[in-house]
Amino acid sequence: MLLFVENNKIYLEFVVKTLIGSYYGDRKEKMELRKIGKFIASERKAKDITQEKLAEMLDVSDRAVSKWERGICMPSTAVMTNLCEILDFSINELFCGERIDMSSATKRLEKSLLEMAKMKEQRDKELLTLEIFIGVTVSLTMLSCIMLAAFVDMPNWVRAVLVTVGIIPFAAGVLYALRIEQIAGYYKCEECGHKYIPKYLTVLFAMHVNRTRYMKCPKCGKKSWQKKIIR
Ligand SMILES: [Zn+2]
Repeated sequence: MLLFVENNKIYLEFVVKTLIGSYYGDRKEKMELRKIGKFIASERKAKDITQEKLAEMLDVSDRAVSKWERGICMPSTAVMTNLCEILDFSINELFCGERIDMSSATKRLEKSLLEMAKMKEQRDKELLTLEIFIGVTVSLTMLSCIMLAAFVDMPNWVRAVLVTVGIIPFAAGVLYALRIEQIAGYYKCEECGHKYIPKYLTVLFAMHVNRTRYMKCPKCGKKSWQKKIIR
């Protein structure tokens, strides 16, 4: 139980893939990563730079470069600008995974911005579903542990261990779920319509009914019941 809260990344992937069934979105993303990877590789070879040399120039490991080129992950934002400079393409071209002529550049840029916004929306929706899943799982675990401890005959120390085993993941799960709620989507001020992402502690201590929280708007300063929205 604790392990799965700690391994939240693997867990998240598992839930996203199996429960929410975002298989198609995922496959599309993988295809795009692969295209970008091939693009980086071909531009690197065209410049006659080895993977090792590129890694050295960017101060990353050879493995990192190999991972980008195989489409396993994107270069981190920290090295993106340097990578573009060394291989002589724009950030826009990197995201598109191909050379773009200037006349269609704006159009392509708009398209990739839109794609990114869509991806964020989709991810936010999935995260909020995950929040419910975590909440239900840790609640059920705690409940079963406490029921067992209350109704089954056992030594007191086993009882204490059982209750602890139930409560710790519950506390961790609730805090983690709240973190998801804080960062996925936005809260909308009822008074002025301002959308924003509040601080974690603000979310933690705010009165709430489901996902609607009573908080102070950073723009107009008025307190209101603010709904969670995806966009
Ligand atoms: Zn406001």
